[in-house]
Parts: sequence; structure tokens; C-alpha cells
Amino acid sequence: MYRARAEGITFTKEPYIEDVGPRRIKSMKFTALSDSEISKIAEVQVWKNSYYDQTRKPIEGGLLDPRMGLANASDKSGTCATCHAKYDSCPGHYGYLELALPVYHVGYLGVVLQILKCICKGCARTLIDEDLRKERLKKMRSPKLEHPRKIALAKTLIDRCSAMTSSKAVKCLRCGFINGRVHSFSCAITIGIDLKSNDYVWSDAVKQNSFLTEHHCPVKKAVSMLGIIHDTSKCIDGNLEEFRSAISHTKEAKAPVNLTTHLLDPLRVLFLFKRMPDEDCELLYLADRPEKFILTNIAVPPIAIRPSAMVGGSHSNENEITERLKQIIQANANLRQELQEASGAFKCLV
Ligand SMILES: [Zn+2]
Ligand SMILES: [Zn+2]
Repeated sequence: MYRARAEGITFTKEPYIEDVGPRRIKSMKFTALSDSEISKIAEVQVWKNSYYDQTRKPIEGGLLDPRMGLANASDKSGTCATCHAKYDSCPGHYGYLELALPVYHVGYLGVVLQILKCICKGCARTLIDEDLRKERLKKMRSPKLEHPRKIALAKTLIDRCSAMTSSKAVKCLRCGFINGRVHSFSCAITIGIDLKSNDYVWSDAVKQNSFLTEHHCPVKKAVSMLGIIHDTSKCIDGNLEEFRSAISHTKEAKAPVNLTTHLLDPLRVLFLFKRMPDEDCELLYLADRPEKFILTNIAVPPIAIRPSAMVGGSHSNENEITERLKQIIQANANLRQELQEASGAFKCLV
């Protein structure tokens, strides 16, 4: 170690091995990265959806920003803007992409659904009473209880809360909010282009027949949309049938969302998860804070794992990951603009 200090630090791809003899790994933890952790490991914020400028140089703030490493192996003279190494020696560096609104991560949707089944949609506390909460917390904190037993215990809590709200709506003991059944839904949507405005438009399966008019040109069919619904219809009791028969002739009667169901959008869920106390996370045996399961920042991988392929020395083909990220940047920019226009219109009304 002293020798390394004396000679100065050098960048290398060789693994670092500490010369102190064998060591025993006590524990290992896998966890999702939070939005601040993603921006902390990143060297650059990516927000432009173009790759090169007019002189064929990678654009700063673009998906091929040189601070994330060099774009292709044929660039023999170029160096990385972060570590100043050549293509062969640069390990690659992350960037990050800030989303205009949070979104569900498809891989965590199951966990998010399980947590939502257990918490109040008003105050974000677990739906069980205080005595049971204390008893469960004591068991979860017990060092004698093994890991598989704690998983099983958390599962019984999820099953208990699901059963509570599946047959009838439950009033929260702390804030009085009415909690109904939480479930996911998916529906097929058709994406098309409005021939008048040239904008993308979409329609769900229910409205599909009226959607395909001479003004709309469908471009993609049966794209599935995933969402989470909070169904409080059980609290309407006998009035529900009367309500359903009254709207039976309308399109809304067949739609997945009606007046007694509420879409739990990622922004609302993120707000609830941030309010969840650490003790309630322990009850559900969560390894980390639940807000990490909702995406607010996307880690843009180093260019080294999504290299460009040069064609004919002047044109480059971009990797599939880069192309996908470009679509996300475009959709994100459109959404951000719509939000700004909407907030501007609201300020005019005020
Ligand atoms: Zn580098
Ligand atoms: Zn509550």
C-alpha cells in the first residue's frame, strides 16, 4: 500500500487485491439504487436526443457524451473526457436521465402491488391494528428468528391485509380513509397518428371501434398498458347495482376504470412510499426503502457496453440500448413540455 502511494495512483483494469491475507465475508446485500445514488455515480446528465454535431463530434449532454467513454474502437487518437484513457483502457462511466414524472419499473410491479395492499392509501401506515403491529415488529426484530421464517411472517401479513380489503372496504384506524381492493390491470391499446395534427394518439380496446376513423391511421396494435387500481366499490354497498344499471348503456360501464375505481399512478404511489415509516418497512421485511422501486432517474450505461458500429467510415449505427434511450428522452421531453404548458395555463386561470 505504501509502495503504491510512493509511486502515485495509476488507472488499471486489474482487480484490486488487498495484501492482508484471507478475509471472511460476513454479509452481502443486493439493493436497488435510489435517484440520488444514480445521479451520484453518474458523470453526466443526459438530456439531448441527438448523437453528433455537424462536425461529427459527440454532443455534450447527448447519449454519446465523451464523459461516458469513447463511442467506438476506431477512434484511436481520442481519449475519454472523464479518465483521459484511450478506448482500450477506459472502464466506462455512467450517465443519468432525469424523468419528468416517476414511472413504474416493470420488474418491481409485483412488490409495489404487495406493499400497496398492506398500507392505507391515505396515511401510508399498515392496515393492521396497533397491538398486532407491535407484536409483529417484536418478532421481526428478534435475532433468533431466521431469514426464511421472517419472509414467511411478512407473507402472512400481506395475505391478511389482502383478505381484509377483498370482501369489503376497510376504514383506516388512524386517519379514517376508506381502503378498498388493490389490483393490477392491463389493457390493449392501439397507437395511431392523427392525420390532421400529425400527433400520436392512443385508444384502449373499448373505444377502438370509434377510434379507427378516416382521420386516424393506426400504426401499432395491441400494446399492453400496465397499471394499478384502487377499487373502493365495496363501500357503496347496495347502491352499486343501481349505479351500474344506470350507466349500463354507456361506454364507461365496460371500461376498466369507472367512478368507484381510482388509478394509483406512480406519482401518488411514490408520495405514499416516501411517507411510510421505517418500522412499517420492517414489518413487511423490506430490505430497503420502498420509494426505490419507483423510477425517477434512469442510469444511462457506459458507452463501452453499447458501442457504435461505424459503417463506411462516415455513418454510424447505434446500439439498440442507445436507440431505446433516445425514445425515452424524446417522450420525456414531450411530457415535460406538456406539463409546462399545462402549468402555464393554470397560472393564467389563477
Ligand atoms: Zn473513462
Ligand atoms: Zn390511514
